[in-house]
Amino acid sequence: MSEGLQTIGIDVGGTKTAAVRISASGAVLARETLPTPADDMQATLETTVRAARAVLTPGVRAIGIGAAGLVEAGTGRLTFAPNLAWRNVSLVEHMWEAVGLPTIADNDNNVAAWAEFRLGAGRGRSHLLFVGVGTGIGGGIVADGKLFRGAHGFAAEIGHIVVEPGGPLCGCGNHGCWEQVASGHAVTRAGREAARQHPQSMIARRCEGDPARVTGPLVTECARAGDPVARGILAQVGRRLGEGIAGLVNVLDPEVVAVGGGVAAAGEFLLEPARAAFVGAVEAAAHRPAVPIVAATLGTETGAIGAAMLALDELT
Ligand SMILES: [Zn+2]
Repeated sequence: MSEGLQTIGIDVGGTKTAAVRISASGAVLARETLPTPADDMQATLETTVRAARAVLTPGVRAIGIGAAGLVEAGTGRLTFAPNLAWRNVSLVEHMWEAVGLPTIADNDNNVAAWAEFRLGAGRGRSHLLFVGVGTGIGGGIVADGKLFRGAHGFAAEIGHIVVEPGGPLCGCGNHGCWEQVASGHAVTRAGREAARQHPQSMIARRCEGDPARVTGPLVTECARAGDPVARGILAQVGRRLGEGIAGLVNVLDPEVVAVGGGVAAAGEFLLEPARAAFVGAVEAAAHRPAVPIVAATLGTETGAIGAAMLALDELT
């Protein structure tokens, strides 16, 4: 692997498309971010190509794409995105035709897991579980130093395990999926409820009495400012997160669990209760090595860096 080798990674999210060009050691050499026209699939494909071209140089050898949805292994075909209007589109073919470089595509949380494994919280380990907590919950599994994709590339859709039958309706069509009770959805829902029930609370004051204006970041802000109601909401969601992680650790036995995504900005308000619930819920906690549950380390570019790293590792 020569040091001059460079790859591009693109993270196609519901609101923005982020591209980076990295060196073989993972250093970001160039970056571009464009808004995603998520309701128009053709325009989204064109945006992906535009983002790639913005950071493209003659030294680039391959392109990796991470997309929020089910991405078929081998073909790089995006078959379904629970929260977006994308169906059956070949990200790889489109990029290849436009730019002429070898391209891979994978799920956005799979590439984020790869970034944490190669450069972040899982560096030097062989087994990592990545839990991306944003509006929903996505996952990525590295087992024995390899990304675990399952038979079709659809593995690690951890947010859609039903943990509360008859619970809130999920974007996937089921009720009571884990991502409905342990992600941004849950924080927002509980924050709105608190604003209605406690008109004197900090959350109610900051949303100026309009519960519909409560967002996850607003709840986190209130928690940081010392509001016990907001801290209680994050602790409750953190506990549900920790219980779910316990089930996944029972199945996967990772060395480390990295928690990323937008809601991870709540930091220890979320992670501390998650760790406590995890120890209570994992099988035989006293008879197994501790599994650290840590914040992911690579920040908002994790997906794009991971996609570029995966292209580097698999295509060069
Ligand atoms: Zn679901």
